[in-house]
Amino acid sequence: MQFWRALFGTRDIGIDLGTANTVVHVQGRGITLCEPSVVAVHRDTHQLRASGTEAKEMLGRTPMDILAIRPLRDGVIGDIDSVELMLKDFLGRATGRRELGGPRVVIGVPSGATEVETMAVGGAVKKAGASEIYCFPEPYLAAIGAGLPIRDPTGNMIVDIGGGTSEVAVVSLQGIVTHKPIRIAGDELDEAIATYARQAYNLYIGERTAEDVKIQIGSAYPLGEESSMTVRGRDLLTGLPRSGTLRSEEIRECVQEHVRAIVDAIRMTLEATPPELAADIMDRGIVLAGGGAMLRGLDRLIMNETEIPVHVAEEPLTCVAKGAGKVLEEMANSPAMRRRYRSYLCH
Ligand code: ADP
Ligand code: MG
Repeated sequence: MQFWRALFGTRDIGIDLGTANTVVHVQGRGITLCEPSVVAVHRDTHQLRASGTEAKEMLGRTPMDILAIRPLRDGVIGDIDSVELMLKDFLGRATGRRELGGPRVVIGVPSGATEVETMAVGGAVKKAGASEIYCFPEPYLAAIGAGLPIRDPTGNMIVDIGGGTSEVAVVSLQGIVTHKPIRIAGDELDEAIATYARQAYNLYIGERTAEDVKIQIGSAYPLGEESSMTVRGRDLLTGLPRSGTLRSEEIRECVQEHVRAIVDAIRMTLEATPPELAADIMDRGIVLAGGGAMLRGLDRLIMNETEIPVHVAEEPLTCVAKGAGKVLEEMANSPAMRRRYRSYLCH
């Protein structure tokens, strides 16, 4: 295997197959792809039309013969064919090769994934051309990617807030001690914003627009200056296109319920954490990762509610993929680590 790898110059690949974004780390090159987990296919033939950013632009705008799909939307693999199609295209673009040449791959799977789901993810990666596939729990990779000292006998809390799912986990001594996956994440915030625009202003806006609103003026905690944003949609009464203005205070109010659910999950995880580790977390703080971590004031809100310091990871979107890259590096350099990680091997 090692000889073969050297001969073909195969590079190890780390993958974060997220519900909202897929991120790929290629050994020696770093992050080479970060694109929305979306594919556009022909409705009849299921042939690939576009993937990533280009396909996301098509969401809600496709003509009759094209389907734009988010195959991992709810965190589980519902549409395995589309996942395979998307992965193959992404890996080709990330590596610049049509044939991968059988690399070793580390991929993150949600910590709450069943055996069947994990196998499905592994199978999809295998079909894309990988030979040796390791499926790691996502929060574990996120903790490594965020630079937490997970080898030490000390408690580290990582909160990874994605599109379809969020995960709260405590990691110590290279293992997950407690974890709580929840189905509340960025998508729910977008839906809450769209529902609010409908109910308060009779304005029907698409999910892309709702997400823009969240990113531009959304917040979890009042941070001084408030702002507003003009959006376009369809008037529910006249059926005609129209614009409306949303204020940051309203948006904070309408996403509050979901933000609370994330805070509650953190609280419950802390309650289930052994006291020594909980004491470590009080000292070291909680680290936020995933795109949802970028919601303005979320760190401040969690800090107020838990009275524990909170830090947002550097580049929260790429933590899982960078963590996968680090795990691959450890495995490449140490036979002991390869043995240690054998249990994550996915057949
Ligand atoms: P996943 O791991 O599920 O693919 P990501 O970690 O890629 O998810 O995060 C995607 C989520 O982060 C989306 O819901 C997106 O709207 C949200 N997001 C990205 N940037 C921001 C931002 N600046 N403020 C709030 N949410 C954001
Ligand atoms: Mg993620």
